Amino acid sequence: MIPYGKQNITQADIDAVSVALQGDFLTQGPTILAFEQAFSKYIGCQYSVAVANGTAALHLSALALNVQPGQKIITTPLTFAASANCIRYCGGEVVFADIDPQTYLLDIQKVRTLLEASPRGTYHGIVPVDFAGNAVNLETFRKLADEYGLWLLEDACHAPGGFFTDSQDKKQYCGNGQYADLAIFSFHPVKHIATGEGGMITTNDEKLYHKLLELRTHGITRDVSQFKNSKAFAAGQEVGADEPYPGWYMEMQTLGYNYRFTDFQAALGISQLSRANEGIERRRAIAARYQKAFANQSFIKGQSGIVQGHAYHLYVIEVPNRLGLYNYLRTQQIFAQIHYIPCHLMPYYRDLGWTEGDLPVAETYYKHCISLPMYPTLTDEQQDFVIQTIQDFYV
Ligand SMILES: *Cc1c(COP(=O)(O)O)cnc(C)c1O
Repeated sequence: MIPYGKQNITQADIDAVSVALQGDFLTQGPTILAFEQAFSKYIGCQYSVAVANGTAALHLSALALNVQPGQKIITTPLTFAASANCIRYCGGEVVFADIDPQTYLLDIQKVRTLLEASPRGTYHGIVPVDFAGNAVNLETFRKLADEYGLWLLEDACHAPGGFFTDSQDKKQYCGNGQYADLAIFSFHPVKHIATGEGGMITTNDEKLYHKLLELRTHGITRDVSQFKNSKAFAAGQEVGADEPYPGWYMEMQTLGYNYRFTDFQAALGISQLSRANEGIERRRAIAARYQKAFANQSFIKGQSGIVQGHAYHLYVIEVPNRLGLYNYLRTQQIFAQIHYIPCHLMPYYRDLGWTEGDLPVAETYYKHCISLPMYPTLTDEQQDFVIQTIQDFYV
């Protein structure tokens, strides 16, 4: 059986988790900070906050960016629903803008058109997604966002290690905090780095970082400089007592959540991270082999050439008779997948007013797209079998 994506767990991973399980902390221990620091170093950002999953990362990000009921936020329909849902958790209104048919990424011209058509202050933020591992050019999005006073939240779940090249010819790695206010990642088993469940928020903004730490743990702070109640109250003594805040004292200052990550997951994350570059190299090699194999088949539309900086979470092609191909591959034990059913046409979003024809590029793409097997342990032989099976279907 060949799935479209798969985790890779080595003996080193198992040993790392085993060590963590025998340590003093299953959660809230030092391994979490160690993973966060290793992740920051890999991504090239200043701060990382590990959380329970990618969806929790999105929710906390929307809270930290202060999304309020009625605020309009723009995102792409070509994503996992959580990229949009995080806005709904905070009562915001999701406005989908169509994708670019070449890159499959949120089309900045469509976003600009939306912004120009409404009074300033209508929109509050943009959630671009590095779809399939193809890095969004955040420099151009930052410029646009600044023109209109918007925040940027990058959904980089598909692209740890991916990058785009900015106008100074510099590689800007996904989630590095250079242009977006916040970025988020997922460690679900199909993603590049797997910890079972897990997620990360990255930023270069110290204030947002502290806000996120607080929101991750119930809105509780132990930072003395932030305390609001009096020392006398904290010490449980008569008014006028001037003791320092006692050792046990903490305050819940905002409504937060328990979106914590565990130490044994962090140990697995550190171990996985040490192989992340190898994983991307292998993904790029697999992409190059697919590209070569389909180069002369004009009816198969892939992304033309190897895209620089692409992290290849997915390898997507667009084909005629997609349903037939999908079913035929399954008879050969090849489990390709479809990414994504356009988010705006999910019944939940239809109920909010979205309908067929609203985003024609994404809707046409959906009729033809199929994600082929793409993961580092896919062997050349397995990939050749996938390629041959596709060729057989179309002769
Ligand atoms: C996986 C994914 C998420 C959600 O991550 P979970 O860890 O499954 O909650 C969000 N956005 C995108 C683009 C994803 O691929």
